[in-house]
Amino acid sequence: MGMPETLSSSGPAGLAPDYETAIVGTGFGGLAMAIKLREDGQNRFVIIERGSSVGGTWRDNRYPGAACDVPSHLYSFSFAPKSDWSRVYPTQPELHAYLRQVADEHDLLRYIQFNSTLTGARYDEARQLWQISVIEAGSSRSFTARALVLANGGLAEPKLPDVPGVENFRGMHFHSSQWNHGYELAGKRVAVIGSGASAIQFVPEIAAKVARLDVYQRTPNWIIPRPDRPYSERLKGLFAKLPLLRRAYRSFIYWAHEARVFGLVLNPWFMTLFQKIAERHIERQVKDPALKAKVTPDYLIGCRRILISNDWYPAVSRPNVDLVTQPIREIRENAVVTADGQVREVDCLIFGTGFYATENPIGHIVHGRGGVSLASEWSHGEEAYLGTLVKRFPNLFLIVGPNTGVGHTSMVFIIETQVALIRRLLARLRAAGNATLEVRADVQDSFNRKLQQRLGASVWSTGCNSWYKHRSGKITALWPGFTFDFRRQTRAVGEQDYLLEKAKPVAVA
Ligand code: NAP
Repeated sequence: MGMPETLSSSGPAGLAPDYETAIVGTGFGGLAMAIKLREDGQNRFVIIERGSSVGGTWRDNRYPGAACDVPSHLYSFSFAPKSDWSRVYPTQPELHAYLRQVADEHDLLRYIQFNSTLTGARYDEARQLWQISVIEAGSSRSFTARALVLANGGLAEPKLPDVPGVENFRGMHFHSSQWNHGYELAGKRVAVIGSGASAIQFVPEIAAKVARLDVYQRTPNWIIPRPDRPYSERLKGLFAKLPLLRRAYRSFIYWAHEARVFGLVLNPWFMTLFQKIAERHIERQVKDPALKAKVTPDYLIGCRRILISNDWYPAVSRPNVDLVTQPIREIRENAVVTADGQVREVDCLIFGTGFYATENPIGHIVHGRGGVSLASEWSHGEEAYLGTLVKRFPNLFLIVGPNTGVGHTSMVFIIETQVALIRRLLARLRAAGNATLEVRADVQDSFNRKLQQRLGASVWSTGCNSWYKHRSGKITALWPGFTFDFRRQTRAVGEQDYLLEKAKPVAVA
Protein backbone atom coordinates (compact mmCIF):
# COMPACT_ATOMS: atom_id res chain seq x y z
CA MET A 1 0.00 0.00 0.00
CA GLY A 2 1.56 3.30 -1.05
CA MET A 3 2.21 6.01 1.48
CA PRO A 4 0.68 9.45 1.06
CA GLU A 5 2.63 12.06 -0.81
CA THR A 6 5.33 13.48 1.47
CA LEU A 7 8.45 15.54 1.16
CA SER A 8 11.65 13.86 2.19
CA SER A 9 12.32 14.84 5.78
CA SER A 10 12.54 17.61 8.30
CA GLY A 11 14.90 20.32 7.11
CA PRO A 12 15.95 23.83 8.11
CA ALA A 13 13.50 26.53 9.13
CA GLY A 14 11.00 27.51 6.49
CA LEU A 15 11.26 24.32 4.48
CA ALA A 16 8.12 22.32 3.90
CA PRO A 17 7.19 19.91 6.67
CA ASP A 18 6.86 16.19 6.05
CA TYR A 19 3.11 16.57 6.08
CA GLU A 20 0.79 19.52 5.96
CA THR A 21 -1.50 17.90 8.51
CA ALA A 22 -1.13 15.04 10.96
CA ILE A 23 -4.34 13.55 12.34
CA VAL A 24 -4.40 11.34 15.42
CA GLY A 25 -7.15 8.70 15.46
CA THR A 26 -9.48 7.00 13.01
CA GLY A 27 -12.77 7.20 14.84
CA PHE A 28 -15.61 9.36 13.54
CA GLY A 29 -13.45 12.48 14.04
CA GLY A 30 -10.26 11.41 12.28
CA LEU A 31 -12.10 9.87 9.35
CA ALA A 32 -14.33 12.93 8.81
CA MET A 33 -11.29 15.22 8.91
CA ALA A 34 -9.44 13.15 6.34
CA ILE A 35 -12.45 12.94 4.02
CA LYS A 36 -12.95 16.71 4.09
CA LEU A 37 -9.23 17.40 3.52
CA ARG A 38 -9.38 15.25 0.42
CA GLU A 39 -12.48 17.10 -0.77
CA ASP A 40 -10.37 20.27 -0.56
CA GLY A 41 -7.72 18.65 -2.75
CA GLN A 42 -5.34 18.15 0.18
CA ASN A 43 -3.28 14.97 0.07
CA ARG A 44 -0.28 15.74 2.19
CA PHE A 45 -1.63 14.42 5.43
CA VAL A 46 -1.08 11.36 7.55
CA ILE A 47 -3.29 9.62 10.09
CA ILE A 48 -1.74 7.98 13.12
CA GLU A 49 -3.77 5.07 14.47
CA ARG A 50 -2.66 2.96 17.43
CA GLY A 51 -5.02 0.11 16.55
CA SER A 52 -4.97 -2.23 13.60
CA SER A 53 -8.25 -1.12 12.04
CA VAL A 54 -10.27 2.07 11.88
CA GLY A 55 -13.17 2.85 14.21
CA GLY A 56 -11.86 4.35 17.47
CA THR A 57 -14.25 3.79 20.31
CA TRP A 58 -16.47 1.60 18.10
CA ARG A 59 -13.52 -0.67 17.34
CA ASP A 60 -12.41 -0.97 20.96
CA ASN A 61 -15.67 -1.30 22.88
CA ARG A 62 -16.66 -4.77 21.75
CA TYR A 63 -18.04 -6.01 25.04
CA PRO A 64 -21.21 -8.16 24.85
CA GLY A 65 -24.22 -5.95 24.17
CA ALA A 66 -22.21 -2.86 23.12
CA ALA A 67 -24.48 -0.48 21.26
CA CYS A 68 -25.10 3.22 20.87
CA ASP A 69 -27.74 5.18 22.80
CA VAL A 70 -28.40 7.50 19.85
CA PRO A 71 -30.45 6.30 16.86
CA SER A 72 -28.40 5.03 13.93
CA HIS A 73 -29.92 7.41 11.37
CA LEU A 74 -28.60 10.35 13.39
CA TYR A 75 -25.43 8.69 14.74
CA SER A 76 -23.82 8.56 11.30
CA PHE A 77 -22.20 11.02 8.91
CA SER A 78 -24.56 13.39 7.10
CA PHE A 79 -22.38 12.89 4.00
CA ALA A 80 -22.39 9.07 4.22
CA PRO A 81 -26.01 8.08 4.81
CA LYS A 82 -26.98 4.44 5.18
CA SER A 83 -30.50 3.36 4.33
CA ASP A 84 -30.27 -0.16 5.69
CA TRP A 85 -29.41 0.35 9.35
CA SER A 86 -30.68 -2.85 10.93
CA ARG A 87 -32.31 -1.25 13.96
CA VAL A 88 -33.07 2.00 15.77
CA TYR A 89 -30.00 1.84 18.08
CA PRO A 90 -26.94 0.59 16.21
CA THR A 91 -24.84 -2.18 17.71
CA GLN A 92 -21.05 -1.98 17.96
CA PRO A 93 -20.43 -4.49 15.13
CA GLU A 94 -22.71 -2.54 12.81
CA LEU A 95 -21.10 0.81 13.67
CA HIS A 96 -17.59 -0.60 13.29
CA ALA A 97 -18.53 -2.08 9.90
CA TYR A 98 -20.02 1.28 8.87
CA LEU A 99 -16.83 3.16 9.74
CA ARG A 100 -14.65 0.59 7.93
CA GLN A 101 -16.86 0.94 4.88
CA VAL A 102 -16.73 4.75 4.95
CA ALA A 103 -12.91 4.64 5.21
CA ASP A 104 -12.75 2.20 2.30
CA GLU A 105 -15.15 4.08 0.07
CA HIS A 106 -13.22 7.30 0.60
CA ASP A 107 -9.89 5.59 -0.11
CA LEU A 108 -8.45 6.59 3.26
CA LEU A 109 -6.51 3.45 4.12
CA ARG A 110 -3.41 4.59 2.25
CA TYR A 111 -3.14 7.63 4.53
CA ILE A 112 -3.34 5.65 7.76
CA GLN A 113 -0.35 4.38 9.69
CA PHE A 114 -1.82 1.56 11.75
CA ASN A 115 -0.27 0.25 14.98
CA SER A 116 1.35 3.64 15.38
CA THR A 117 1.06 5.28 18.80
CA LEU A 118 1.65 8.97 19.40
CA THR A 119 4.43 9.40 21.97
CA GLY A 120 4.96 13.15 21.73
CA ALA A 121 4.04 16.31 19.84
CA ARG A 122 6.01 19.49 20.34
CA TYR A 123 5.40 22.83 18.68
CA ASP A 124 8.71 24.11 17.30
CA GLU A 125 8.37 27.90 17.50
CA ALA A 126 11.40 28.65 15.34
CA ARG A 127 10.28 26.42 12.49
CA GLN A 128 6.54 26.94 13.04
CA LEU A 129 5.95 23.20 12.82
CA TRP A 130 4.77 20.36 14.96
CA GLN A 131 7.49 17.83 15.73
CA ILE A 132 5.68 14.53 16.17
CA SER A 133 7.00 11.24 17.56
CA VAL A 134 5.36 7.87 17.27
CA ILE A 135 6.21 4.34 18.18
CA GLU A 136 5.52 1.67 15.57
CA ALA A 137 6.18 -2.03 16.16
CA GLY A 138 8.67 -1.19 18.88
CA SER A 139 10.62 1.43 16.90
CA SER A 140 10.27 5.15 17.34
CA ARG A 141 10.06 7.58 14.48
CA SER A 142 9.51 11.28 14.20
CA PHE A 143 8.28 13.63 11.53
CA THR A 144 6.97 17.17 11.15
CA ALA A 145 3.58 18.58 10.26
CA ARG A 146 2.32 22.12 9.90
CA ALA A 147 -0.96 21.36 11.64
CA LEU A 148 -1.89 18.75 14.19
CA VAL A 149 -5.46 17.50 14.57
CA LEU A 150 -6.11 15.49 17.73
CA ALA A 151 -9.07 13.22 17.05
CA ASN A 152 -8.01 10.74 19.72
CA GLY A 153 -11.46 10.61 21.33
CA GLY A 154 -12.88 11.81 24.60
CA LEU A 155 -13.61 8.32 25.94
CA ALA A 156 -10.64 6.33 24.74
CA GLU A 157 -8.28 5.90 27.70
CA PRO A 158 -9.62 3.24 30.09
CA LYS A 159 -9.65 4.15 33.75
CA LEU A 160 -9.04 1.48 36.40
CA PRO A 161 -10.52 1.85 39.86
CA ASP A 162 -8.33 3.46 42.49
CA VAL A 163 -9.06 0.68 44.97
CA PRO A 164 -6.32 -0.55 47.32
CA GLY A 165 -4.88 -3.90 46.27
CA VAL A 166 -6.31 -3.92 42.75
CA GLU A 167 -2.85 -4.84 41.44
CA ASN A 168 -2.79 -7.96 43.67
CA PHE A 169 -5.75 -9.68 42.00
CA ARG A 170 -4.56 -12.97 40.48
CA GLY A 171 -7.67 -14.07 38.56
CA MET A 172 -8.74 -12.99 35.08
CA HIS A 173 -9.38 -9.26 34.85
CA PHE A 174 -10.03 -6.77 32.08
CA HIS A 175 -11.61 -3.39 31.34
CA SER A 176 -14.91 -3.27 29.45
CA SER A 177 -13.16 -1.61 26.49
CA GLN A 178 -10.55 -4.40 26.36
CA TRP A 179 -12.94 -7.32 26.66
CA ASN A 180 -11.29 -10.74 26.68
CA HIS A 181 -13.54 -12.76 24.38
CA GLY A 182 -11.21 -15.75 24.72
CA TYR A 183 -12.11 -16.15 28.38
CA GLU A 184 -15.13 -18.37 29.04
CA LEU A 185 -17.34 -16.67 31.64
CA ALA A 186 -19.84 -19.54 31.85
CA GLY A 187 -19.96 -21.03 35.31
CA LYS A 188 -17.51 -18.51 36.81
CA ARG A 189 -17.82 -16.23 39.84
CA VAL A 190 -17.59 -12.74 38.40
CA ALA A 191 -17.40 -9.26 39.89
CA VAL A 192 -18.20 -6.14 37.88
CA ILE A 193 -17.03 -2.81 39.22
CA GLY A 194 -19.16 0.03 37.92
CA SER A 195 -22.77 0.52 36.85
CA GLY A 196 -22.43 3.13 34.11
CA ALA A 197 -23.44 3.10 30.43
CA SER A 198 -21.07 0.23 29.59
CA ALA A 199 -21.90 -2.01 32.58
CA ILE A 200 -25.65 -1.68 32.05
CA GLN A 201 -25.15 -3.07 28.57
CA PHE A 202 -22.86 -6.04 29.32
CA VAL A 203 -24.22 -7.12 32.74
CA PRO A 204 -27.56 -8.34 31.29
CA GLU A 205 -25.62 -10.21 28.58
CA ILE A 206 -23.46 -12.18 31.01
CA ALA A 207 -25.76 -12.48 34.04
CA ALA A 208 -27.50 -15.67 32.92
CA LYS A 209 -24.36 -17.56 31.99
CA VAL A 210 -22.11 -16.91 35.00
CA ALA A 211 -22.44 -18.87 38.24
CA ARG A 212 -22.45 -15.72 40.42
CA LEU A 213 -22.28 -12.07 39.61
CA ASP A 214 -21.50 -9.28 42.09
CA VAL A 215 -22.11 -5.84 40.61
CA TYR A 216 -20.45 -3.07 42.61
CA GLN A 217 -22.50 0.09 42.23
CA ARG A 218 -21.12 3.29 43.74
CA THR A 219 -23.79 5.68 42.44
CA PRO A 220 -27.12 4.60 40.91
CA ASN A 221 -28.09 6.09 37.56
CA TRP A 222 -31.47 7.14 36.28
CA ILE A 223 -32.54 4.74 33.57
CA ILE A 224 -35.36 5.11 31.06
CA PRO A 225 -36.81 2.47 28.70
CA ARG A 226 -34.96 1.74 25.46
CA PRO A 227 -37.39 2.06 22.53
CA ASP A 228 -35.32 -0.18 20.27
CA ARG A 229 -36.65 -2.26 17.37
CA PRO A 230 -35.40 -3.63 14.07
CA TYR A 231 -36.24 -1.72 10.88
CA SER A 232 -38.42 -3.73 8.51
CA GLU A 233 -37.13 -4.61 5.05
CA ARG A 234 -39.94 -2.46 3.66
CA LEU A 235 -38.81 0.63 5.56
CA LYS A 236 -35.15 0.07 4.59
CA GLY A 237 -36.29 -0.19 0.96
CA LEU A 238 -38.26 3.04 1.27
CA PHE A 239 -35.26 4.86 2.78
CA ALA A 240 -33.13 3.63 -0.13
CA LYS A 241 -35.67 4.67 -2.77
CA LEU A 242 -36.68 7.96 -1.18
CA PRO A 243 -33.63 9.83 0.13
CA LEU A 244 -35.89 12.74 1.06
CA LEU A 245 -37.85 10.48 3.40
CA ARG A 246 -34.61 9.26 5.00
CA ARG A 247 -33.43 12.84 5.45
CA ALA A 248 -36.76 13.90 6.95
CA TYR A 249 -36.55 10.97 9.38
CA ARG A 250 -33.03 12.01 10.39
CA SER A 251 -34.24 15.59 10.94
CA PHE A 252 -37.14 14.35 13.01
CA ILE A 253 -34.76 12.40 15.28
CA TYR A 254 -32.45 15.42 15.49
CA TRP A 255 -35.17 17.84 16.61
CA ALA A 256 -36.77 15.34 19.01
CA HIS A 257 -33.40 14.95 20.76
CA GLU A 258 -32.61 18.67 20.66
CA ALA A 259 -35.82 19.41 22.58
CA ARG A 260 -34.19 17.84 25.66
CA VAL A 261 -31.93 20.88 25.97
CA PHE A 262 -34.88 22.83 27.43
CA GLY A 263 -34.72 20.68 30.54
CA LEU A 264 -30.98 20.04 30.69
CA VAL A 265 -29.78 23.61 30.28
CA LEU A 266 -32.55 26.16 30.11
CA ASN A 267 -34.73 25.11 33.00
CA PRO A 268 -33.84 22.03 35.08
CA TRP A 269 -37.39 22.07 36.50
CA PHE A 270 -38.54 20.35 33.26
CA MET A 271 -36.35 17.41 34.29
CA THR A 272 -38.58 16.70 37.28
CA LEU A 273 -41.31 15.78 34.76
CA PHE A 274 -38.89 13.61 32.82
CA GLN A 275 -37.86 11.88 36.05
CA LYS A 276 -41.37 10.44 36.32
CA ILE A 277 -40.62 8.20 33.32
CA ALA A 278 -37.56 6.80 35.08
CA GLU A 279 -39.41 6.38 38.39
CA ARG A 280 -42.18 4.45 36.61
CA HIS A 281 -39.52 2.26 34.96
CA ILE A 282 -38.24 1.25 38.41
CA GLU A 283 -41.81 0.70 39.67
CA ARG A 284 -42.56 -1.64 36.78
CA GLN A 285 -39.32 -3.61 36.77
CA VAL A 286 -38.17 -3.79 40.40
CA LYS A 287 -40.41 -5.53 42.91
CA ASP A 288 -38.04 -6.01 45.84
CA PRO A 289 -38.17 -2.88 48.09
CA ALA A 290 -34.52 -3.29 49.18
CA LEU A 291 -33.36 -3.41 45.56
CA LYS A 292 -35.67 -0.51 44.70
CA ALA A 293 -33.97 1.60 47.35
CA LYS A 294 -30.53 0.67 46.00
CA VAL A 295 -31.28 1.55 42.39
CA THR A 296 -33.12 4.82 43.02
CA PRO A 297 -30.84 7.85 42.69
CA ASP A 298 -31.07 10.79 45.10
CA TYR A 299 -30.25 13.50 42.55
CA LEU A 300 -32.24 15.11 39.77
CA ILE A 301 -32.42 13.14 36.53
CA GLY A 302 -30.01 14.48 33.92
CA CYS A 303 -27.38 15.60 36.43
CA ARG A 304 -25.46 12.51 35.31
CA ARG A 305 -25.85 10.84 31.97
CA ILE A 306 -29.35 9.35 31.56
CA LEU A 307 -29.07 5.68 30.66
CA ILE A 308 -31.46 3.65 28.56
CA SER A 309 -32.08 -0.04 29.16
CA ASN A 310 -34.91 -2.55 29.34
CA ASP A 311 -32.87 -5.38 30.81
CA TRP A 312 -30.67 -3.87 33.55
CA TYR A 313 -33.23 -4.05 36.37
CA PRO A 314 -34.29 -7.61 35.45
CA ALA A 315 -30.59 -8.60 35.37
CA VAL A 316 -29.77 -7.21 38.82
CA SER A 317 -32.98 -8.82 40.15
CA ARG A 318 -31.75 -12.33 39.22
CA PRO A 319 -31.11 -14.74 42.10
CA ASN A 320 -27.46 -15.27 41.05
CA VAL A 321 -26.77 -11.50 40.92
CA ASP A 322 -25.97 -9.30 43.90
CA LEU A 323 -26.04 -5.53 43.50
CA VAL A 324 -23.48 -4.48 46.09
CA THR A 325 -23.66 -0.91 47.28
CA GLN A 326 -21.17 -1.17 50.13
CA PRO A 327 -17.97 0.67 49.13
CA ILE A 328 -15.06 -1.55 48.11
CA ARG A 329 -12.41 -1.52 50.84
CA GLU A 330 -9.75 -3.60 49.09
CA ILE A 331 -9.13 -6.17 46.44
CA ARG A 332 -7.21 -9.32 47.35
CA GLU A 333 -5.66 -11.90 45.09
CA ASN A 334 -8.95 -13.82 44.78
CA ALA A 335 -11.62 -11.62 46.35
CA VAL A 336 -13.27 -8.24 46.71
CA VAL A 337 -13.69 -6.94 50.27
CA THR A 338 -16.30 -4.32 51.11
CA ALA A 339 -16.36 -1.74 53.89
CA ASP A 340 -18.63 -3.95 56.02
CA GLY A 341 -15.89 -6.60 56.07
CA GLN A 342 -17.63 -9.02 53.71
CA VAL A 343 -15.24 -10.99 51.51
CA ARG A 344 -16.59 -12.15 48.13
CA GLU A 345 -14.34 -14.58 46.29
CA VAL A 346 -14.30 -14.28 42.49
CA ASP A 347 -12.62 -15.86 39.48
CA CYS A 348 -12.91 -12.82 37.24
CA LEU A 349 -12.99 -9.07 37.74
CA ILE A 350 -14.43 -6.81 35.04
CA PHE A 351 -13.80 -3.09 35.25
CA GLY A 352 -16.74 -1.10 33.93
CA THR A 353 -15.04 1.92 35.42
CA GLY A 354 -15.08 4.27 32.46
CA PHE A 355 -12.49 6.50 30.87
CA TYR A 356 -10.28 9.52 31.40
CA ALA A 357 -12.97 11.87 30.12
CA THR A 358 -11.16 14.74 31.81
CA GLU A 359 -7.38 14.81 32.24
CA ASN A 360 -6.82 12.64 29.18
CA PRO A 361 -3.23 11.32 29.41
CA ILE A 362 -2.50 12.68 25.92
CA GLY A 363 -2.28 16.13 27.58
CA HIS A 364 1.10 15.17 29.03
CA ILE A 365 2.75 14.58 25.66
CA VAL A 366 1.46 17.55 23.65
CA HIS A 367 3.54 20.70 24.16
CA GLY A 368 2.79 24.15 22.81
CA ARG A 369 4.62 27.47 23.02
CA GLY A 370 7.40 27.58 25.61
CA GLY A 371 7.30 23.79 25.89
CA VAL A 372 4.19 23.95 28.10
CA SER A 373 2.09 20.78 28.02
CA LEU A 374 -1.66 20.71 27.54
CA ALA A 375 -1.85 18.94 30.92
CA SER A 376 -0.20 21.85 32.74
CA GLU A 377 -2.15 24.44 30.74
CA TRP A 378 -5.24 22.56 31.92
CA SER A 379 -4.25 21.85 35.52
CA HIS A 380 -7.44 23.60 36.72
CA GLY A 381 -9.63 21.91 34.12
CA GLU A 382 -9.61 21.68 30.34
CA GLU A 383 -10.44 24.80 28.33
CA ALA A 384 -10.51 25.58 24.66
CA TYR A 385 -12.28 27.90 22.26
CA LEU A 386 -15.34 26.07 20.96
CA GLY A 387 -13.62 22.85 21.98
CA THR A 388 -11.28 23.20 19.02
CA LEU A 389 -8.55 25.82 19.51
CA VAL A 390 -6.28 26.29 22.52
CA LYS A 391 -4.39 29.49 23.28
CA ARG A 392 -0.59 29.13 23.05
CA PHE A 393 -0.97 25.98 20.92
CA PRO A 394 -0.62 27.27 17.36
CA ASN A 395 -1.99 25.13 14.54
CA LEU A 396 -3.36 22.61 17.01
CA PHE A 397 -6.94 21.56 16.38
CA LEU A 398 -8.99 19.37 18.69
CA ILE A 399 -11.95 17.24 17.72
CA VAL A 400 -14.18 16.45 20.70
CA GLY A 401 -12.12 18.85 22.82
CA PRO A 402 -13.22 20.44 26.11
CA ASN A 403 -16.93 21.20 26.52
CA THR A 404 -18.05 19.62 23.27
CA GLY A 405 -19.72 16.56 24.80
CA VAL A 406 -23.44 16.07 24.42
CA GLY A 407 -25.47 13.56 26.39
CA HIS A 408 -28.73 14.39 24.65
CA THR A 409 -27.91 13.78 21.00
CA SER A 410 -25.35 12.59 18.45
CA MET A 411 -21.66 13.44 18.88
CA VAL A 412 -21.33 12.99 15.14
CA PHE A 413 -23.16 16.31 14.64
CA ILE A 414 -20.60 18.04 16.88
CA ILE A 415 -17.70 16.28 15.14
CA GLU A 416 -18.87 17.32 11.68
CA THR A 417 -19.28 20.88 12.94
CA GLN A 418 -15.72 20.95 14.30
CA VAL A 419 -14.33 19.41 11.13
CA ALA A 420 -16.04 22.14 9.07
CA LEU A 421 -14.42 24.80 11.27
CA ILE A 422 -10.95 23.21 11.11
CA ARG A 423 -11.24 22.79 7.36
CA ARG A 424 -12.07 26.47 6.97
CA LEU A 425 -9.19 27.53 9.24
CA LEU A 426 -6.71 25.32 7.41
CA ALA A 427 -7.82 26.90 4.13
CA ARG A 428 -7.32 30.33 5.71
CA LEU A 429 -3.79 29.30 6.71
CA ARG A 430 -2.95 28.19 3.20
CA ALA A 431 -4.35 31.40 1.79
CA ALA A 432 -2.16 33.38 4.19
CA GLY A 433 0.96 31.63 2.92
CA ASN A 434 1.16 28.85 5.46
CA ALA A 435 1.37 30.96 8.55
CA THR A 436 0.35 29.83 11.98
CA LEU A 437 -3.02 30.38 13.54
CA GLU A 438 -3.63 30.69 17.25
CA VAL A 439 -6.77 31.64 19.15
CA ARG A 440 -6.51 34.96 21.00
CA ALA A 441 -6.19 34.43 24.75
CA ASP A 442 -8.88 37.02 25.58
CA VAL A 443 -11.31 35.38 23.15
CA GLN A 444 -10.80 31.93 24.71
CA ASP A 445 -11.03 33.31 28.25
CA SER A 446 -14.22 35.28 27.72
CA PHE A 447 -15.80 32.33 25.85
CA ASN A 448 -15.07 30.08 28.84
CA ARG A 449 -16.38 32.59 31.38
CA LYS A 450 -19.74 32.68 29.62
CA LEU A 451 -19.72 28.92 29.12
CA GLN A 452 -19.16 28.25 32.81
CA GLN A 453 -21.92 30.73 33.76
CA ARG A 454 -24.34 28.85 31.58
CA LEU A 455 -23.21 25.50 32.95
CA GLY A 456 -23.75 26.82 36.47
CA ALA A 457 -27.48 27.10 35.77
CA SER A 458 -27.77 23.70 34.11
CA VAL A 459 -29.04 20.42 35.53
CA TRP A 460 -25.42 19.17 35.60
CA SER A 461 -24.75 21.61 38.45
CA THR A 462 -27.70 20.55 40.59
CA GLY A 463 -25.61 18.40 42.92
CA CYS A 464 -24.10 15.08 41.88
CA ASN A 465 -20.71 13.60 41.08
CA SER A 466 -20.13 12.78 37.42
CA TRP A 467 -17.43 12.19 34.85
CA TYR A 468 -18.55 15.43 33.21
CA LYS A 469 -16.52 17.26 35.85
CA HIS A 470 -12.80 17.87 36.31
CA ARG A 471 -11.60 17.05 39.83
CA SER A 472 -11.77 20.80 40.58
CA GLY A 473 -15.55 20.52 40.12
CA LYS A 474 -15.56 22.49 36.87
CA ILE A 475 -17.71 20.91 34.16
CA THR A 476 -15.29 20.43 31.30
CA ALA A 477 -16.97 17.73 29.25
CA LEU A 478 -20.27 19.22 28.15
CA TRP A 479 -21.60 21.76 25.70
CA PRO A 480 -24.33 23.71 27.50
CA GLY A 481 -26.88 24.25 24.82
CA PHE A 482 -28.40 23.36 21.51
CA THR A 483 -26.05 21.74 19.03
CA PHE A 484 -27.31 24.09 16.31
CA ASP A 485 -26.06 26.93 18.50
CA PHE A 486 -22.63 25.27 18.65
CA ARG A 487 -22.72 25.15 14.85
CA ARG A 488 -23.80 28.77 14.61
CA GLN A 489 -20.95 29.89 16.88
CA THR A 490 -18.32 27.91 14.98
CA ARG A 491 -19.53 29.42 11.72
CA ALA A 492 -19.06 32.90 13.17
CA VAL A 493 -15.36 32.31 13.97
CA GLY A 494 -13.35 34.89 12.04
CA GLU A 495 -10.24 37.07 11.96
CA GLN A 496 -11.35 38.77 15.18
CA ASP A 497 -10.85 35.53 17.10
CA TYR A 498 -7.37 34.45 16.19
CA LEU A 499 -3.86 35.66 15.48
CA LEU A 500 -2.12 34.79 12.27
CA GLU A 501 1.65 34.71 12.35
CA LYS A 502 3.35 35.00 8.99
CA ALA A 503 5.73 32.28 7.86
CA LYS A 504 9.25 33.11 9.02
CA PRO A 505 11.83 33.54 6.28
CA VAL A 506 13.83 30.48 5.27
CA ALA A 507 17.10 30.25 7.20
CA VAL A 508 19.91 29.74 4.71
CA ALA A 509 22.83 27.68 5.98
P1 NAP B 1 -18.84 5.57 33.38
O1 NAP B 1 -20.16 6.01 32.93
O2 NAP B 1 -17.83 6.58 33.76
O3 NAP B 1 -19.07 4.55 34.56
C1 NAP B 1 -18.03 4.11 35.35
C2 NAP B 1 -18.61 3.35 36.50
O4 NAP B 1 -17.56 2.86 37.32
C3 NAP B 1 -19.48 4.23 37.41
O5 NAP B 1 -20.55 3.46 37.85
C4 NAP B 1 -18.51 4.59 38.53
O6 NAP B 1 -19.13 4.94 39.73
C5 NAP B 1 -17.78 3.28 38.66
N1 NAP B 1 -16.51 3.39 39.33
C6 NAP B 1 -15.40 4.05 38.90
N2 NAP B 1 -14.42 3.92 39.80
C7 NAP B 1 -14.92 3.18 40.83
C8 NAP B 1 -14.41 2.73 42.05
N3 NAP B 1 -13.15 3.02 42.43
N4 NAP B 1 -15.22 2.02 42.87
C9 NAP B 1 -16.48 1.73 42.50
N5 NAP B 1 -17.03 2.14 41.34
C10 NAP B 1 -16.25 2.85 40.52
O7 NAP B 1 -18.12 4.64 32.28
P2 NAP B 1 -18.80 3.79 31.11
O8 NAP B 1 -19.92 3.02 31.64
O9 NAP B 1 -17.70 3.07 30.42
O10 NAP B 1 -19.38 4.89 30.17
C11 NAP B 1 -18.63 6.04 29.83
C12 NAP B 1 -19.35 6.85 28.82
O11 NAP B 1 -19.19 6.23 27.54
C13 NAP B 1 -20.85 6.94 28.97
O12 NAP B 1 -21.31 7.81 29.91
C14 NAP B 1 -21.26 7.29 27.58
O13 NAP B 1 -21.07 8.64 27.31
C15 NAP B 1 -20.32 6.44 26.79
N6 NAP B 1 -20.96 5.16 26.50
C16 NAP B 1 -22.05 5.19 25.71
C17 NAP B 1 -22.71 4.04 25.47
C18 NAP B 1 -23.92 4.08 24.63
O14 NAP B 1 -24.11 4.94 23.82
N7 NAP B 1 -24.79 3.15 24.86
C19 NAP B 1 -22.29 2.84 26.01
C20 NAP B 1 -21.16 2.84 26.80
C21 NAP B 1 -20.50 4.01 27.05
P3 NAP B 1 -19.57 6.47 39.97
O15 NAP B 1 -20.73 6.68 39.05
O16 NAP B 1 -19.89 6.56 41.40
O17 NAP B 1 -18.39 7.31 39.58
